[in-house]
Amino acid sequence: MSIQTQTETKKDLLRGGQFLVKETKAEDIFTPEDFSEEQIMMRDSVKEFVDREIWPYKERFEHKDYALTEEVMRKAGEMGLLGVAVPEEYGGLGMGFVTTMLVCDYISGATGSIATAFGAHTGIGTMPITLYGNEEQRKKYVPKLATGEWFGAYCLTEPGAGSDANSGKTKAILSDDGKNYVINGQKMWISNAGFCDMFIVFARIEDDKNITGFIVENNKENGISMGEEEKKLGIHSSSTRQVFFNDTKVPVENLLAGRGEGFKIAMNALNVGRIKLAAACLEAQRRVIDGAVKYANDRIQFNTPIAKFGAIQQKLAEMATDAFVGESASYRAAKNIEDRISMRMEDGNTHQEAELKGVEEYAIECSILKVAVSEDLQDCADEGIQIFGGMGFSADTPMESAWRDARISRIYEGTNEINRMLAVGMLVKKAMKGHVDLLGPAQAVANELTGIPSFDIPDFSEILSEEKDMLARLKKVFLMVAGSAVQKYGTELESHQQVLLAASDILIEIYMAESAILRAEKNTKRNMNNPDHQVAMAQLYLYHAVDTITEKAKEGISSIAEGDEQRMMLMGLKRFTKYTNLPNVIALRNKIAEKVVSENTYPF
Ligand SMILES: Cc1cc2nc3c(=O)[nH]c(=O)nc-3n(C[C@H](O)[C@H](O)[C@H](O)COP(=O)(O)OP(=O)(O)OC[C@H]3O[C@@H](n4cnc5c(N)ncnc54)[C@H](O)[C@@H]3O)c2cc1C
Repeated sequence: MSIQTQTETKKDLLRGGQFLVKETKAEDIFTPEDFSEEQIMMRDSVKEFVDREIWPYKERFEHKDYALTEEVMRKAGEMGLLGVAVPEEYGGLGMGFVTTMLVCDYISGATGSIATAFGAHTGIGTMPITLYGNEEQRKKYVPKLATGEWFGAYCLTEPGAGSDANSGKTKAILSDDGKNYVINGQKMWISNAGFCDMFIVFARIEDDKNITGFIVENNKENGISMGEEEKKLGIHSSSTRQVFFNDTKVPVENLLAGRGEGFKIAMNALNVGRIKLAAACLEAQRRVIDGAVKYANDRIQFNTPIAKFGAIQQKLAEMATDAFVGESASYRAAKNIEDRISMRMEDGNTHQEAELKGVEEYAIECSILKVAVSEDLQDCADEGIQIFGGMGFSADTPMESAWRDARISRIYEGTNEINRMLAVGMLVKKAMKGHVDLLGPAQAVANELTGIPSFDIPDFSEILSEEKDMLARLKKVFLMVAGSAVQKYGTELESHQQVLLAASDILIEIYMAESAILRAEKNTKRNMNNPDHQVAMAQLYLYHAVDTITEKAKEGISSIAEGDEQRMMLMGLKRFTKYTNLPNVIALRNKIAEKVVSENTYPF
């Protein structure tokens, strides 16, 4: 790459959170239509693996067949799927971030039990060592984890320390001879505990402010014991147990990174975990849509396949739209992360440093995606049940388990409440540090509120230009609400959680809607993958986003401002959310549904 192009690449690559204040061009985003041949082959082989090894055994997964989960994980290891993100020198395939997302996406769709086992092993079970381990630790453990010879688990949560992860009571004390740490404590909700060979354990050394990470081999003789399998609402064949450490000796060389670095490791592992969890919620949606439309085409009521009814078409259109939007945003962010990792490696960072910093840069997007896509999956599964009617409520159809399995995604990897607040909190911090200039644009919006509005009708002849104009105005809504909240509450903003949550919902809708609009625009320009339908989905999503944003902004404004200031902001809100040409939502849904119904699957 020439120096000139390198500089341009760096300049053009938006930082995390900058999507709010800088325009992204359609040709600059990566979409699923940009998958390389290698990525498509990877996707197809993962799909084939799932259709062969997982989907036919769905019933066994619903009956707590933990051994089957272990067996499938071992087979995934034999195929190399557990090592896609692991560098080749440690026995993995060393693939880029987009490919690792893709594998996580397609392997996770058939049952939440495998999605969880895969995510816990490859993400939080392996990543802390690949990213924070020293050379010896990586050489010793990562090749075993990459091939599935060993399985990993991650022990952060405790009975008294969930969302407040740094408050754990598990203790690590250096032995008198200085050779071992002796760990005592109780961990809870540990995925893969029942069959893992190794744990990443977080414990506090003496009275340190922050916890420390340790690699702990699973050995009963070393004071490690387990509770019974938890009785759960869903993911029935994912092993989840309490783990007790009773004078467990851990060699000092198994301390990860440095003393007191555990909280940082835990949080960074979770950033990767969050975006991967979003990916893991995509194929699950596609499979629900596929099942729902097939059922709707077959099921006859009133002498008519129910797929012909507007009420069912409305559901199918909304489900497909959410899945499309989730894909658009997940792969857009994944490519940003991949590019930033390459950029840092070109600058001389090691793979470890580059990956850590690359993902951390987009921590805001990771939280946004975790929240949005996990909630889309829940809605999708819920409507899947509704389309199946009474049969949807029966455990004999896949909708019932999809609905139960979906529920956990809103809880683990940081609850959706915590992730919502984190997204805005991190953005404000970035603004304070000068990494993203929010203050200038927020001031410009404040000035605009007191200025005279333009009554010109813009030229909306270009495809999606009205939608992009709306998007630019929705960004002003965020800046108006978040800007006044920061001004009013200052450092106390954190304690005004409902305002933060409202601002977060605005932020989430903007990112998701923009990703869909840019994907549809890019594909329209190159005439790929049903562009007319993609445009319809982007428009439909935006229509809902405008409503959500209006509602949330009103909540925020009514609590932040009073009197004239409140009236001015509400007038601004009206102006910023006004359509020149209101889309015909029913026509959009009909168009999308017609495609889904005629193809008898999720066709995008
Ligand atoms: C099936 C399953 C598998 C899991 N796997 C693992 C694993 O492998 N390893 C691991 O370490 N952990 C794991 N977990 C734990 C999981 O990460 C936690 O359950 C999660 O972080 C929430 O913690 P908690 O359950 O203690 O809930 P709490 O933190 O008690 O939260 C309860 C409610 O209060 C809200 N809340 C909490 N704090 C705040 C706040 N400051 N402001 C506003 N609202 C707040 C939450 O959003 C939530 O709605 C798993 C959990 C489950 C159920």
